[in-house]
Amino acid sequence: MRSPSGDRHRWGAATVRLACRMIFRLKTAAGHLVLQRFIPDYEAIKATVSMLPCLTLDPSSQADKFCKIFTVGTIFPSIWWVLLHDPSNLNEGHTHHPMNDVTANLVIPGALLGAGDPPPFTLVNPDGQSPVVLVCDHASNVIPTALDQLGLGPEALSRHIAWDIGAARVARLLAARLDGPAVLAGYSRLVIDCNRSPGDPTSIAEVSDGTFIPGNRNLDDAAAESRLNEVFWPYHHAITQILAHRWRHGHGRAPALIAIHSFTPMLNGFRRPWQLGVLWNRDPRLALPVLARFRTDPELCVGDNEPYSGREVGFTMDTHGGAAGLPHVEIEIRQDLIADDAGCERWATVVGDALAAVLADQTLYRVQHY
Ligand SMILES: [Zn+2]
Repeated sequence: MRSPSGDRHRWGAATVRLACRMIFRLKTAAGHLVLQRFIPDYEAIKATVSMLPCLTLDPSSQADKFCKIFTVGTIFPSIWWVLLHDPSNLNEGHTHHPMNDVTANLVIPGALLGAGDPPPFTLVNPDGQSPVVLVCDHASNVIPTALDQLGLGPEALSRHIAWDIGAARVARLLAARLDGPAVLAGYSRLVIDCNRSPGDPTSIAEVSDGTFIPGNRNLDDAAAESRLNEVFWPYHHAITQILAHRWRHGHGRAPALIAIHSFTPMLNGFRRPWQLGVLWNRDPRLALPVLARFRTDPELCVGDNEPYSGREVGFTMDTHGGAAGLPHVEIEIRQDLIADDAGCERWATVVGDALAAVLADQTLYRVQHY
């Protein structure tokens, strides 16, 4: 006849056996990746479990008792914790701040980005308190490993065709100066241009400023869509979520959106005279007062919708700013001025002074369509 304590013991041992089986079965397949991603210190737990002699589950052994305590004490609470929380909160490198949480689940595994590749966007200064969001579409010249540098050498990838030289550094400095978050794109515009509509011939350029991009020739739909899904949309979803978060928690204030770009001094044999450009489409709320501020300095050569026009090119501003009715502007800085840290700091101060003065107007922070 079985005693109740014997039943309890058998039930306990069976539970431990099942838990260990689950862990080791999961370890062999996709479940391993799931556990690794969602359970804090999973590698340490796995290593400890592997070393336990209790896997034979001898009911009389001390090791079995330890295994039971260990399982109940660590693995079950870990799973429970995951069930209670948003698993995206556990992404490595993110703190548990609400601003990080809103973008933590945007990196979607796929065929293009591998384990050694950086994420498709970087969130800078997420704890910034002002209702201002900075974005930098062309912050990076990184190419996913699988694309083999798109068939280009390091010289081509260091040029303006691959990224906006100096822009990421200036965006970071402005995020600190204006006390707002900045979203920086993680990959080169040659992979996919985050400031172009998907499908536009310049979205995945086959030629840029006279340089042929071998890795972009004759792409099929699947290859183009993997760049959209893994590089372009995660960056834009991050901007959407950061703006939405600011807006929801902004005490009635709609956030302002500022894009930071840089432009090459020479294009098609033409030397561009402007040091700064202010690009805008229909919403003048930021553009006109910022232009007026810059123009108080007679030494500055400032372009109004030069060297590009915000009325022609501006997927990011039109999508996240104009369509939503948020105040927005795009600032362009000539690349020879911000080629080093000292230049970045100098021009971040010039731009930051003008923006800070204009952004102090509290009537800006409302929805208005033009
Ligand atoms: Zn740019």
